[in-house]
Amino acid sequence: MSIKKKSDAGWCFDNSFAHLPEVFFSPTKPEPVRHAGQILLNETVAKDLGLTIEILRLDGPQVFAGNEIPSGAMPIAQAYAGHQFGHFTNLGDGRAILLGEHLTPDKQRVDVQLKGSGRTPYSRSGDGRAALGPMIREYIISEGMESLGIPTTRSLSVTATGESVLRSTPLPGAILTRIAKSHIRVGTFQYAAALGDKENLSQLLAYTVDRHYPDLRNSDDLPFAFFQAVLDRQADLVSRWMLVGFVHGVMNTDNVSIAGETIDYGPCAFLDVYHPETVFSSIDHQGRYAFQNQPSITQWNLARLAESLVQVVPGNPEDAVGKFVEILETFPSCYEKYFQIGANAKLGLTTLEKEDSAIYSDLLKIMEESQLDFTETFVTLADGLEQSEVDPEFSKVAGLSDWIKRWSQRFAREPGSVVDVAKRMQTVNPVIIPRNLKVEEALVAAESGDLEPTHRLLEAFKLPFSKTKENEPYQKGALPGSQPYCTFCGT
Ligand code: AMP
Ligand code: MG
Repeated sequence: MSIKKKSDAGWCFDNSFAHLPEVFFSPTKPEPVRHAGQILLNETVAKDLGLTIEILRLDGPQVFAGNEIPSGAMPIAQAYAGHQFGHFTNLGDGRAILLGEHLTPDKQRVDVQLKGSGRTPYSRSGDGRAALGPMIREYIISEGMESLGIPTTRSLSVTATGESVLRSTPLPGAILTRIAKSHIRVGTFQYAAALGDKENLSQLLAYTVDRHYPDLRNSDDLPFAFFQAVLDRQADLVSRWMLVGFVHGVMNTDNVSIAGETIDYGPCAFLDVYHPETVFSSIDHQGRYAFQNQPSITQWNLARLAESLVQVVPGNPEDAVGKFVEILETFPSCYEKYFQIGANAKLGLTTLEKEDSAIYSDLLKIMEESQLDFTETFVTLADGLEQSEVDPEFSKVAGLSDWIKRWSQRFAREPGSVVDVAKRMQTVNPVIIPRNLKVEEALVAAESGDLEPTHRLLEAFKLPFSKTKENEPYQKGALPGSQPYCTFCGT
């Protein structure tokens, strides 16, 4: 049932998740905060949600801080489990509250979640709160991902709490309002499976299919069809990360969205200089979630989903396992298909040939050996084609002239002129990504009350594929030999 109050910003809540069996959630209210203050409000997202900006500017902070519950919302904390760095743990929303699902004017159902909204039954020893820096960080990076066309949760707002959170030092507290297709994770299925109640798991499966994979509703082999579909979306998503140099940093199974969105921006960051083993997270000592490991970790995470689904397949579990393994083994080729189409597009190629994969990987080897910036390399290649001359510095890079000759012979078999190849490249190779230095600069300023650098950075994301005078300061990455960039989990 949707309840809508005239005076509110246009919220239209309809809380279907809360109709699942009670084991999946705990009704929990956000803990009110002292002084709710708006830090960032995403007017584009608000508009897409059908919310009235003018009212949000007034009422928003109280709602986003959890001080007021909008009419129709049914706040809950969701239960889930997850493999964290390979170890299974029961988790749940320890510092987040799902206000409910909002129906957009075009009838999309989205979760509205407050992250950092206080303690819940799943908080364990945590304080349920979040610091301002990491919440602004999630806002910035999720906007950056959106600008690059990569499926992602969105950030509607960052709201200050007026309270401190105690980390290694006291930090200003904040709450992020996150909009997601849903917060159903691989870990939600693991949680249901660990309870060992087939009926719960079947209900979760039916609910998730209905919400995210409605075409499969009448499938005879639902668990397998669902698994195949989730696998496909994950392969697509992770290939997109690999094509822009994104390192998620904490690909635990509780951070894998079944809807196929990038979720939970903690220690994530983008590559500057290309190196396949890049790790940014201060806690990822083994490099489990290093850049090059992301596809294989995705397959590992999908294996955990398959294990959970075995319970709902009728008949002999061994047969079910065999069938899941068969599907799981298609992951590398499924991923490779998405990746190669994307890699070819980055090189201006519209068709696929057998040698293309080697052309791309040889370019990566050149980047690695000469410590080239991942993003700039593609931009420079496209510019060189457009202007019919390669940047003189660039042409000195070991092996690059020979590689360019090979690539030129390849794109000679493509439709259109050389300039057309360059133009195609310019539509898919970003000039602007959330550069680590710029993100840090924005966060340091924001923490001392200056949001100007954050706003300028967000502005630069608006034209990620064009070189403009305004976005020039946002184009350059860190130089080779710079201090390695290090990120911390967003707690
Ligand atoms: P994350 O690293 O944000 O994916 O969180 C992993 C798990 O730790 C989730 O169950 C969170 O709810 C929980 N968690 C993270 N930070 C806190 C906190 N400050 N208080 C309580 N729970 C937390
Ligand atoms: Mg998480």
